[in-house]
Amino acid sequence: MFHSFLIKYAEIGVKGKNRYLFEDALVRQINYAMKRCEGTFVVHKASGRIYVDAKSEFDFDEVVGELKTVFGVWGICPVTVLEDKGFEQLSKDVIAYIDENYPDKNFTFKVQARRARKNYPLDTMEINAELGGILLDAFPELSVDVHDPDVQLHVEIREKIYVYSMIIPGPGGMPVGTGGKGMLLLSGGIDSPVAGYMISKRGVTIDAVYFHAPPYTSERAKQKVVDLARLISRYTGSIRLHVINFTDIQLHIYEKCPHDELTIIMRRIMMQIAERLANDSECLGLITGESIGQVASQTMAAIAVTNEVCTLPVYRPLIGMDKQEIVEISEKIGTYETSILPYEDCCTIFVAKHPVTKPSLAVIKRHEQNLNDRIEELVQTALDTDEIVEVKYEK
Ligand code: ATP
Ligand code: MG
Repeated sequence: MFHSFLIKYAEIGVKGKNRYLFEDALVRQINYAMKRCEGTFVVHKASGRIYVDAKSEFDFDEVVGELKTVFGVWGICPVTVLEDKGFEQLSKDVIAYIDENYPDKNFTFKVQARRARKNYPLDTMEINAELGGILLDAFPELSVDVHDPDVQLHVEIREKIYVYSMIIPGPGGMPVGTGGKGMLLLSGGIDSPVAGYMISKRGVTIDAVYFHAPPYTSERAKQKVVDLARLISRYTGSIRLHVINFTDIQLHIYEKCPHDELTIIMRRIMMQIAERLANDSECLGLITGESIGQVASQTMAAIAVTNEVCTLPVYRPLIGMDKQEIVEISEKIGTYETSILPYEDCCTIFVAKHPVTKPSLAVIKRHEQNLNDRIEELVQTALDTDEIVEVKYEK
């Protein structure tokens, strides 16, 4: 029965003087995840390690499940923590550890001792050899393989002694909060929630914006986006979601511009509004769920025209992915079922039968001139009526 977890994190890029920022962010994110678990836990740093100690009864699978949502966690090691009561006692405890955790003893192993406390009477080599021998005596089915063992038994001698042998893979990435903030354009589809997840994996905190067009898009379509934001906030941390009423802008475009250019012009205005929100909230970039060639508005030519209105960088984490790969991630992170609910979104309401796939920037700009009389005012009104929803993951 374990009461502690040792958290392994990828150390690439976190050496040097920024390391503590990385570790503090990781501790904060682990705490955020542990709040969702039944029980009391203490998350702490000790000699370059992060530990999660359970201070009450807890559900092992639940805790591991939540730790797997924390970016920056490379591995989760259930660890047995022992008081140092001499080598003889350690030998007994290690035998008990193997007996409890490996009912089937037909495996190869290797003891990997580490001695952070140099006053321990045995050195690393001696601990490896002694414990190895003791285990072979206790369980004759075992055998040693120092090159490619099935089980690596780690025995770390610190103030206390830590014994672990299982590494449950975490999601990897960087802890959220170490990579700045971005503004996610979040629609009700499959792609943009996955894009939010992917960018967060690099440590980026996100705000989000959703454009809706009541009464053409329903309250349920909006609720679906709030639900999606809540689902990804399990990984990204809490999200400030801006809900922008896009109806009048959309009707204005519909009235004044060629219908085969609606989507692209609409997309350009969405990007401009998103950028204004981003600048007001210290976001350093925009994030979309675009992927080259997926639909007419995502050809390279169309993306180039959309991108032209932006001065902030636009991050498109899905740019080279196939739909199937995106679907697989959305299933894994738990957004798929919600994404496929059939509520209309504002991009599909006014969409042309044959949208341009190779828009010309000059032509689009010329047609946008038709909007001039009212567009600034409409954009301002949309920003003024921004509805902010603070979204936080709850089970
Ligand atoms: P998704 O599955 O994310 O809806 P999609 O394949 O439907 O993407 P498009 O509708 O072309 O693609 O949208 C491309 C991107 O533009 C989306 O991934 C999203 O980032 C953004 N976007 C589209 N519609 C909206 C909207 N109503 N509100 C906010 N962002 C949007
Ligand atoms: Mg969509």
